[in-house]
Formats: sequence, C-alpha cells, structure tokens
Amino acid sequence: MDRIELEKRVEQLNDLLHEYGHAYYVLDRPLVPDAVYDQYMQELLAIEAEHPDLIYPDSPSQRVGGEILSGFGKVEHTSPMLSLSNAFNETDLRDFDRRAREAAGHALTYICELKIDGLAVSLSYENGRFVQGSTRGDGTIGEDITANLKTVRTIPLRLREPATIEVRGEVYMPKRSFAALNASRDEAGEEPFANPRNAAAGSLRQLDPKIAASRHLAIYVYGIGGDGTEYGQDSHSDALDYLDTLGFETNKARERCRSIDEVIQYIEKWSAKRAELDYEIDGIVVKVDAFEDQEQLGFTARSPRWATAFKFPAEEVVTKLLDIDLTVGRTGVVTPTAILEPVRVAGTTVGRASLHNEDLIKEKDIRIGDTVVIRKAGDIIPEVVMPLIEQRSGNELPFEMPDHCPECESELVRMEGEVALRCVNPQCPAQMKEAIFHFVSRNAMNIEGIGERVVDQLYNSGLVRDVSDLYTLTKEQLLTLERMGEKSVSNLLKAIEVSKANSLEKLLFGLGIRHVGEKAATILAEEFGTLHALMEAEEDRLMQIHEIGEKVADAVTTYFGNDDVRDVIHKLEANGLNLMYKGLTVQDLPAEGPFVGKTVVLTGKLSLLTRNEAKEKIESLGGKVSGSVSKKTDLVIAGEDAGSKLAKANELEIPVWDETQLVESLGEKG
Ligand code: NAD
Repeated sequence: MDRIELEKRVEQLNDLLHEYGHAYYVLDRPLVPDAVYDQYMQELLAIEAEHPDLIYPDSPSQRVGGEILSGFGKVEHTSPMLSLSNAFNETDLRDFDRRAREAAGHALTYICELKIDGLAVSLSYENGRFVQGSTRGDGTIGEDITANLKTVRTIPLRLREPATIEVRGEVYMPKRSFAALNASRDEAGEEPFANPRNAAAGSLRQLDPKIAASRHLAIYVYGIGGDGTEYGQDSHSDALDYLDTLGFETNKARERCRSIDEVIQYIEKWSAKRAELDYEIDGIVVKVDAFEDQEQLGFTARSPRWATAFKFPAEEVVTKLLDIDLTVGRTGVVTPTAILEPVRVAGTTVGRASLHNEDLIKEKDIRIGDTVVIRKAGDIIPEVVMPLIEQRSGNELPFEMPDHCPECESELVRMEGEVALRCVNPQCPAQMKEAIFHFVSRNAMNIEGIGERVVDQLYNSGLVRDVSDLYTLTKEQLLTLERMGEKSVSNLLKAIEVSKANSLEKLLFGLGIRHVGEKAATILAEEFGTLHALMEAEEDRLMQIHEIGEKVADAVTTYFGNDDVRDVIHKLEANGLNLMYKGLTVQDLPAEGPFVGKTVVLTGKLSLLTRNEAKEKIESLGGKVSGSVSKKTDLVIAGEDAGSKLAKANELEIPVWDETQLVESLGEKG
C-alpha cells in the first residue's frame, strides 16, 4: 500500500470501528460478529504500530468501550476501568510472557481466569454496604445503574465485614436464562438478542429495574478497584480469596501458573471444556499475580501491561467471495457454492462454502466480489453469514441463477413448494455420477477406494453408466484408470465383491430413492425382508407401516415403477447381489431388557464403540436412537467431552450413563 492508500485505509478502519463499537457498546445490537471487529482492530493496531503518525487522537485503539447513555447519572471511576490487550495464539502469549518477564527482570507467576462474556461493572461499598454500582462506560466515567444492579441476586447488599471498597466484576446472563429470554421475545414478536453479552448489557441499561430483575443476571467479581495492597493483599489470587470471604462470588476455575507453558495447558483444558459451562466465555484472562510486579509493569492508555486476554479461535472470520460455482447433486438440485479466498476458521482452511439456494443469496444480498463473514462452528459445514455492505467498492456483481443445467444444458425447474432449482433430466451426467458416488459411500454399500475422481473417470470413460456396471468391472479395465496400480485395483475388486453380500437396507439406501434415508431404508428392509417383496408393494400397503408416510410411499412406488430402475435391479441380481434383509426383523427383537421401547440419545466421544456400533446394538435390543434430547428421551449416553445435549439431559433430569455403563448392559443382554 502506498501512503495515500494507507491513510485511506486507516480512515476507513476508524470509521468502521467507531460505527461497530457504537452499535455494540451503546445500542447493544452488534452489526457484525466479534471476530470481524477484532480483525479490523488488529489491522489498525498493526498499521498504527508502524506509523505512529497515523494514530488519530480519537482512534478506537486509544479508548475504552463506548459513550455514556443519557438517562443515567454519571459516575467517575476512582481508577480507570480498562480494556485488555489480546492474544490470539501461542506466539502472542509467548511474546506477552517475554515482554512481561523482561520488564519485571525475573520469572513471573500468572493467574489464569475464565474470560466471562458479559459486561464490566464497578460496585462501591461503604462500611460494608452497597452504595453505588456503575458500568465501565468510556473507562473514566460510567453510568449509574445502582437500582438495576441491586436486582442481581449474587451481588451482596451487605458484606461480611464493614469494608469500604470498590470491587469490579462481570455481570453475565447464564445460557439457560438467555435461551428462555430469546424464546419469549420471539413469541412476543420482538427481535432476539444476538448473544448473552448483549442481553446482559441491554438488561442492565433499562431505566425500569423491574425489567433487569426479570432477566436472571449473575455476577463473578474479578478484582478490587485501585490499590489491592490497601486491603492487606499482595497478589491478585489473594485478593480474589479475600473477596470470597467478604461474601462475593468469584469464579472458582482460576489457577495459578508458574510458567507460560502452564498457562497454555490451562487454556487448552478450558478450550475443550467451555461448552460444559452454563455461561459463555470468550477466552482466558492471564494476569501477573504479584501486585508488586503489576505495579512495575504499569499500563498503556487502554490496558494494563500485566494482563492479556487470550481469545478463543474465531468461528467467524472475514474473507473475499471470489466467485459462485454451481454443483448438481444426486437428486438434480443445483446448489450455488461460494468460492472464497482461503481463510483459517475454527482450525481448518476454508475455500468453499455452500450458499444453499438462490433465495438465500437474494435475501442476504450476497454479490460476487463481496467481503463476507464466514462461519464454521466446530464440525459444522462452513457457511456465508453475511456480506459487509459498507466494504463494497461498487464493482461487485449480483448473482443470477442460470435457467439451464450447468452440466447437461436441460432446462431447470422449480418444484412446487421448493426453493431449490432442479435439473430433471434423469440422464444428466452430474446426477448419474453423484448417484454412483452415493451408492459406494460408507453408509450405503461401503465400497472403499472409489472417490469422486475415480467415479468421474469410470463414468466419462463409459465403463460405468449405472451402479450395476460396478459389478462387471474387470482388472484390465480398472488398470486403465489414472493412478490405479495392481494393488489398488485388487483391493477395489475385493471391496466390490464383499459389498455383494450387504444386507438389503444398505442396498436400498444406496439406490438413492427420494426421501428414503438410512432410517426409512432399514424400516422398509425390516418390514419386507426381500427387495422383490418391496418392489411389488402398493402405496396403501407401504403407508400402513408405522413411520412411513405418504411422501416416502409415493417415492418408493414411483421409483420401482420405472423400467430403467427395474432393469438395473435385474442386472444387480444377475451379478449375484444379495437382495435380502439380514438383520433382525421386528419379530426377532427381545421382549424385555434395558433398552426395549426406550429412546436413547448418544452424545460426546465414545472410545470403546463407534457411534454406529452403539446405535446398532441398542437397536438390536429394541431401543430407538434419536439425535436430540427432549422430554421423550429415556436415557442419554454421554461419552467424553459431551456438551449441550448432556446439559439438556441434566436440565430435564433424564438418566445419564457413561460409556462403560452402556457397554456393560449391552454385554449382559446382548
Ligand atoms: P475485552 O473483551 O477486550 O476485555 C476486557 C473486559 O474483559 C473487561 O472489561 C471485563 O469486562 C472482561 N472480563 C471478563 N472476565 C474477566 C476477568 N476474569 N478479568 C478481567 N476482565 C474480565 O473488552 P472490551 O474492551 O470491552 O471489548 C473489546 C471486545 O468487544 C472485542 O474483542 C470485540 O470482540 C468486542 N466488540 C465487538 C463489537 C462488534 O461489533 N461485534 C464491537 C466492539 C467490541
């Protein structure tokens, strides 16, 4: 960037951060995810560090928090309520440690605390009585919210000792209260809060304390305002213990760490366990423990040098949307996919994200060339959350869905009641390839060694046009494919051979009949026992089956009524495929046992069994395995690191077993 561009960018970042900060701190309605704000702030800080002459006096990097709302009295803080510097990775943490040790001139002990995602408040006590409470405001002056704070049950109105003290802490809204609040706002037609932090902030800044009282807020205090040594404490950890004795609630997850390596271990531990908490945390605060060392390290304009906040990896980041690609799925649905400038998010690099359908693109006004927010939470497929409209240059292109299939040129249709556009040409190569790929997939016929590239080659060379052709492939034919050696060909032929013996439900699922997923395939296989019996079944007969509705019944009869389909099935049979159900039929299930008639939910990591094995075993003992916990759940099996489902089970008081208990009772009865 040349100087003029740099100045422009600094101005743009100042404007954006001011606007986002106002929405977040003052209106409690963020315009963008935190990660977006953080990313721009980091960019601004980096430029300012290299070009100090570009630091505007009112730069968002030079100030804390937002403006003061009128409507509340003003409170001047006895000492500033500051922000914290950030660390986003191990390198940042080690840099922080090195700088701190160099400034102190010796090794340091740290104290790690959870960074509660709420809002900072200051509480003043005189002779043990709560006299005033305020927000952080702009760090120097806050808003007087005493009446609202009195409604927070965990704020003591009287201390156990007649201390005169200013205490600081984080008011937060427990996840459960947040969910309940948003559900009731939704019912009342009000806009939900974006997150528990905004909900807590919005609740404390209500002029009517009754509203705050109804919001079930809580607090963790994390420090003494001003000089802690005045109270006879030498370190932050002692100060927290002292606050406990006064009757405050401090967070007990804190730990003293003797080195930065121990700090990193603490962070790793809580990164894995954070989902179990009943409140949101957005990171870990690392503080130098001894007050003497803190004093030596001092402050910058915005934050103490003796503390830093490690932020958990963002699940939402910003990148550029370079293009929109179209893919044709197995059922002919044409899906637009965003091609992104590759970006790291939640631990992986993302270069593509589904845009689902045209309506969604229109609704969010996503354009080619936009700067967009991408989300990838945990294992969830990445998605485009929104474009950043204020970042547009004017060269972005609105997206139009084509009228014709990008693969076979036939006209696309929109089925009644569906948002998706479909290619209805049964000979569309894209769909045929997807159908083959689905047939060989793990939960269908499980033929290992056939990836998308092999399917492409098999189809394009004409060797495989429908799934029955897989069973006539020869070694010589397979050897003609790219990157296929003797060994892989022999393995592949073996896998194809083994698949012939699969039980009927695998084949049924693999055929890719519309609306027939794994579950319906198993129900149908169990009911009819053989493929021929199912092929002859009429719609009425199908609909008599519990859990089979009109949609599935109609799809099944239509599918088997098709001559091409019958042809493929005859070829499969001629090639020696098993068309019988091999599992237990309804009549074979045990009449009693711990799982008979029970709905079971599996959650967390299992180590003795795979999820599928556990599911199959429970089902073979007459249980049903469901994906979500509700009042109808009879039992939850919680593996390692179980999160929200376990929390829900506890909330609903549903019995919870660990994996060992599960294995023991499978052993007994199975
Ligand atoms: P911060 O998140 O950088 O950290 C300081 C705050 O941490 C303290 O004021 C305190 O409230 C809190 N805290 C929680 N636990 C603590 C503990 N144990 N010890 C000490 N402090 C603890 O705070 P900030 O300066 O208010 O805000 C910056 C953050 O706010 C950004 O990182 C950004 O994610 C978010 N933000 C988002 C937007 C948006 O548009 N989405 C806008 C502005 C700010």
